Parts: sequence; structure tokens; C-alpha cells
Amino acid sequence: MNQTPTTSSAQPLAESGELAALHGLPSAELTERYNASLMGVFGTPQRVLVRGSGCVVWDADGREYLDLLGGIAVNALGHAHPFLTSVVASQLATLGHVSNFFTSPTQIALAEKLLGLAQAPQGSKVFFANSGTEANEAAFKLARRNDGAGTDTPRRRIIALENAFHGRSMGALALTWKKAYREPFEPLPGGVEWVPAGDVEALRAAVDESVAAVFIEPIQGEAGVRGYPEGYLRAAREITRAAGALLIIDEVQTGIGRTGTWFASEGIEPDAITLAKGLGGGFPIGALITFGERTSTLLSAGQHGTTFGGNPAATAAALATLHVIESQGLLEHVRDMGQLLTTALGKLDFVTDVRAHGLLVGFDLESEVAPAVVRAALEAGFIINSTGPASLRLAPPLIITADQLQTFVDALPGLYATAQEDHA
Ligand SMILES: *Cc1c(COP(=O)(O)O)cnc(C)c1O
Repeated sequence: MNQTPTTSSAQPLAESGELAALHGLPSAELTERYNASLMGVFGTPQRVLVRGSGCVVWDADGREYLDLLGGIAVNALGHAHPFLTSVVASQLATLGHVSNFFTSPTQIALAEKLLGLAQAPQGSKVFFANSGTEANEAAFKLARRNDGAGTDTPRRRIIALENAFHGRSMGALALTWKKAYREPFEPLPGGVEWVPAGDVEALRAAVDESVAAVFIEPIQGEAGVRGYPEGYLRAAREITRAAGALLIIDEVQTGIGRTGTWFASEGIEPDAITLAKGLGGGFPIGALITFGERTSTLLSAGQHGTTFGGNPAATAAALATLHVIESQGLLEHVRDMGQLLTTALGKLDFVTDVRAHGLLVGFDLESEVAPAVVRAALEAGFIINSTGPASLRLAPPLIITADQLQTFVDALPGLYATAQEDHA
């Protein structure tokens, strides 16, 4: 038996299997078949993508795009990164999945690595999941276990922030602010309340000994890449510590170098951090890091679990991603690129606000044509995203170059003009 994996071993599927029947079909026809066979929760996809390399992807019609969204802050190393690809392929060819009745060296190495990067104290632990919503689901269960048992006050309340996004499972959804996402699925797990984001006094007023946990994104990504006034996270740390409530930081979008540091919340020691998006460089993986012995033992044996979480392939992908970020000095590069975008976008007269946190970038337009700019950008070969009628978001691969970003900035005035004509 041939033990050596090669890319050509995927060829039979492309040449004679179900995939072969789709090969070479134009986007329009593939999209029709998508709509006939896939659930409509995402609407009609903007393009059918067939291939990627670095920060560039190609669609089924052969058109090329600069990917400035990176699979929504996921493809940290771009597409088809040779090191990530070879690590995952060789891990799959060695040991791909084993269930959590067993462990593997990649899982242990990744847990230890993450605890080191988070500068977590003795007794801190990691739980691996498969997505951001699952990492937050685990955090929600952790929070429920901080129930105040043995004290006079049961802790039944959970505080989240207005405009927060924490995911789509019933628990993560219960933490999410947007009513349109939540209401069709009520009743959701109870006890969640929202306070205005960035308002220290509102948080102080809400948090007492009846609160089990406070959930905060260090920067609200889905809400348009919005941070808080200086000192807010530190104040949240003090307020939760004084009340005995857990401070749970959702770094699903901001973590793993996205903002130019390993974690956007660096400098405060939370009780837990959740991770996903960029962690696997495109391979699905999520993680919950719990800080210190007490928090790390709130969930005991049998109280939570997952079949796939932390499997050898996913943890190898994450190790490879972390290795490249570290060895290529990408954190510094990300900070430089964020600076470049702040300066370059700030010079455009129709851009009213730029919020660049490393390569997690939100910016606002003078008129409410953001969705039309996204469409014009796609036609011109750029993948970007709008988070509101006048707000755009960029979250490109961490390896994107200054020249690539400049190409987009140079094109933006034309895209804006097209979008305004579109609108008129
Ligand atoms: C994307 C996101 C989630 C949900 O992650 P999924 O992997 O889509 O389940 C949760 N929290 C934040 C802050 C996110 O950006």
C-alpha cells in the first residue's frame, strides 16, 4: 500500500466522481444547483470559488479576486498555504481522528502552547471545540457552574453587551444581542441581560453577587469593528472580580494575531477566553481557555464533551498556524498593515471614520451605500464585507502585503462612485 500522500490521490474524485460532473460548469449553473440543494440560511452565495493561493481566490468562471475578508477573519495564512497544507496532509496520513476517549501529542502541544501565549497561571486549562459558537457554548456552561452554591446568593444572571455577537447555537444565541436572530427561537436559555457596550457605570450597576458571568468581545466585530473607551476592559475585570462573577472574553474574531497581538484583551487576566476563527488557519477548531485552578474545575468529568473537538488534524492545523505567525513575525506585520490602512483610508474624503485594530478593520462611508460598494468591489475583483448600511469591514489574511492593500485603497474611490450611481 502506498503510504505517501500526494495531491494526485484526490484526482479520481475530480475525474469520475460527483465532483467531475460539476467540473467546468459556469458559476450561474452551479449557483442554481446550490439553491436547489442547499438550505437557504445564507441566501444566494456571491460567487462559486474553486481555488485559492495566498491572498487570491478564483471563481468557477476563472475570475480572480483579492481576498480582503479571509473567510471572515479565518484564513490567517491565506489560501493553500504550503506549510499548513503539508502539516495537515501528513497528520491525516498519520492519525486524523481518535475520539476524546484518547488523546494525541498534537492536542497536548496545542493546549500547552495556547496556555503559554495567554500567559495563563498555574492550573489553567483548555477545552477544544470545533467553532466559535461551540467555544462560547462551553463557556456558557462554565458560567452556569459558577452558580453561587453554598452562599446566600444564587448566581443566575449573565451579563452581555448591547450589539454583542457570540454565535448561533441556542446558548451562544441567548448571549447575542440582535433580536432578529433570537426571537424566532425563543425560549432560549434564560438569565441573560444586556448593558450598553463601553459604559463602565452601566456595567457596575448591573454586576453584583447574583451574576455568574460577564461576556465581552474585546472589539465588537459583527457590530462594525467597534472597541470601547480606554480602560473599559480593565474596569470590567475589577467589577467582575469584586462581585465573584466570571469575566469571559470572546476572542473568536479578535484572537490569534488578528489585531496585531495574540489576544486583543492582552493586559487583563480574564477568567476565560474563547477562540475559533483564525486559530486553525482555515481548518475548523474552537477553544475555551480557563484561567486558574478554580475556574478550570467548574466543569467536572462528564459535564461537557464533543466528538470531534481537538482531534489530531485540527490541532495540527492550529499548531502550524501559530508556528507560521510566530516564525514569520506576523504580529508586527499586522500592526504595520493596520497603520497603513488607518493612514491610507483616512485620506479619502468620503471615509468618515476608520477603526483599524491591526487587520481587523471597520470604516464608515459618508453615504449609506456600503452593500453597493461590496457589489462593485466584487465586480472589480475585491472581496470585502459590509456590517451596516454605511460600514465596511476588512479582515484579510495576516500575510497580506502593503502592495495588495494599496491596490484596494487605490480602487476604492472608483468603487464608491460606482456604488453611488448604482444607488441614484
Ligand atoms: C464568528 C463569531 C462567533 C461564532 O463563531 P462560529 O465559528 O461562526 O460559530 C462568536 N463570537 C464572535 C465574536 C464571532 O466573531
